[in-house]
Amino acid sequence: MNPSISSVREVEVECSDQALWESHSSLLIHYYDAASLVTFFFSLYLSLSHCATRGKKHAKERKPSRAKTPTFLLELPLVADAGQAARLGGHLEVGRQFYNAVLSAGQRRLRRMRADPAWQAARAIPRTHKQERRAAFSALRERYGFSEYAFHELAKGLRVSWLAEHLDAVLAQTLASRAYRALNRVCLGKARRVRFKSKSRGLSSIENKRTDTGMRFVLQTQDQECPQGYLLWHDDQLRALIDWDDPVVAHGLAQPIKYARLVRRRASSPRAQGADRQGERYFVQLVLKGLPHHKPKHTVGTDTVGLDLGPSSIAIVPREAEARLEPLCAELRPDARAIRRLQRKMERQRRAANPEHYDEKGRAKKRGKGAPRWKQSRGYQATRRRKATRERRLAAHRKSLHGQLVYQIVAVGHTIVTEKISYKGWQKRYGRSVGLRAPGMFIDHLKRTVASTGGTLHEVPTRSTKLSQYCHGCGQIVNKPLRQRWHQCACGIGPVQRDLYAAFLAAYLDPADPIPSCARYVVPWEGAEARLRAAHERVTQRAKEGQVMPRSMGIPRAGARLPESRSEATQELLFLSRRGKVEAWKHRSEPPSLSWGSLQVLTKPADAQLQVSVRKVQIWSATDILLGLGVLVYAVAQLQEGPGLLQALLFVALLIMGGLMIYSFWLIMTRNGL
Ligand SMILES: [Zn+2]
Repeated sequence: MNPSISSVREVEVECSDQALWESHSSLLIHYYDAASLVTFFFSLYLSLSHCATRGKKHAKERKPSRAKTPTFLLELPLVADAGQAARLGGHLEVGRQFYNAVLSAGQRRLRRMRADPAWQAARAIPRTHKQERRAAFSALRERYGFSEYAFHELAKGLRVSWLAEHLDAVLAQTLASRAYRALNRVCLGKARRVRFKSKSRGLSSIENKRTDTGMRFVLQTQDQECPQGYLLWHDDQLRALIDWDDPVVAHGLAQPIKYARLVRRRASSPRAQGADRQGERYFVQLVLKGLPHHKPKHTVGTDTVGLDLGPSSIAIVPREAEARLEPLCAELRPDARAIRRLQRKMERQRRAANPEHYDEKGRAKKRGKGAPRWKQSRGYQATRRRKATRERRLAAHRKSLHGQLVYQIVAVGHTIVTEKISYKGWQKRYGRSVGLRAPGMFIDHLKRTVASTGGTLHEVPTRSTKLSQYCHGCGQIVNKPLRQRWHQCACGIGPVQRDLYAAFLAAYLDPADPIPSCARYVVPWEGAEARLRAAHERVTQRAKEGQVMPRSMGIPRAGARLPESRSEATQELLFLSRRGKVEAWKHRSEPPSLSWGSLQVLTKPADAQLQVSVRKVQIWSATDILLGLGVLVYAVAQLQEGPGLLQALLFVALLIMGGLMIYSFWLIMTRNGL
């Protein structure tokens, strides 16, 4: 406790005799004991009192945590007159400024927290020391006020004077939570930066989190025939358009409301239906408790379905029903030229309105801090709106196509197994296709629908299963390059389209223990092989009829003629033998193609065993060649006169013929072996 005193005592101890030393030392120990006891009780008191105050605080703020209940959304359009629309616009603008203010203050906290040396120290703690690491980070968060709760306190301080007239306390809290979530993503390294809401784009939605105060939705039940619904916010009552004949709406409004959300969407123009003078439409999204309406036409199957999703295609293999291989969202055809035209028009309009932002050669100048603002002409805004409308329509079309496919899958089975895929990685590799077809969004849609019908979607980890590399015949894992669209193994499995095969493997996987095993697949494979082949046959048929298929399906081009004859390989061999390259031919990793018709496009995997035997033959043939050469030299020496030109040619021709015969035998042997 007090080092100076103890050292003085120790000095005393040194100059005294043994007994004195002992008594002193015991005294010293007692002294230390007492001191540590005091500090211990003091710290206990401190921590207890701290806990008590915190507990009191939390008890005041936090309600007992409720169990999570299923939630679904119902969206209704709102009717807003000019005055109401102006007031809503005002509230949302205040919401935007408030959100930006919280975000900016929070960002400052985040930066300060990250600049603290303790942050680096916490980062240096190895990930295996979970508790220690978590404690270090949470202490930092506590110190710098970087938590959702602290942000609510921050919001309380920021919601002052005129802001409070527009924004209820609860809405301010939800906005603060939103800002915290955005910043937390940056803090966790899931996002690079946060985006502040610009004035031109504005805040497009705002939500409450309870139904008793602030913005809320009420149904007027006096009129029993068809009750009216209103969104109440401040003094305004916005009527919602309710179509009571729609079973989805009727079902939704019968459920308890958790909270309401106001959504503002930009229409294509101020003259669009339901748009206000600024060309905005308003909607209320009701967050409802329970399960969404299930249309009777959408049946739910009981099968188990394996899925293999590619950036542009999907393979669906149920355990019993028909297998399918299809392009994802084939009907989706964006008018890329029209969008490009609009983009160019926007660029021209931007240039015309902002000449000061371009140099004499027409290049955009570097944007600095003090650069003048970019101006947006009315024409530019109109063009931007038209482009946005096009993209919105495309997105709506995509969503409906996803929905159709989801219901087709759910109609077959409600247990779905697929590999977990990093859609972010796909975005980097196949940005265009993924951006158009949105496979990740499709999986999310499927997950939601399957869950609402009582089934499950299992996403098995790719790293441990490796379905696209696995072969159930021999249990080997062979990496296929992307261009190889077929699975064929030396053990006799295949040829089968690789996506269909991966989906088949997924269908019979045990989701609890997602490690594929050979024994599991032996019986199902007998029935599935023909189904998979039929699925690919149908795709080939459709491609021949002129439907464009993604290249990943293993069909080179719609209507492309595939080589039919088997003699091709031999012709090639003849050509090679003429140039003395038979050995080179043998060294090819792929043995000559032997399959029929359309299977000619197959590229077989290099069989290790075959290569080993070929290598053995080569060693033998080397000694044979040496022996043969020896015999040849001896025979030529024994001859009285040297061989003529004709004889030499004959010899070469015979040699080639012999080689051909051996090669033919080899072909037959390998064919039987495969
Ligand atoms: Zn195999």
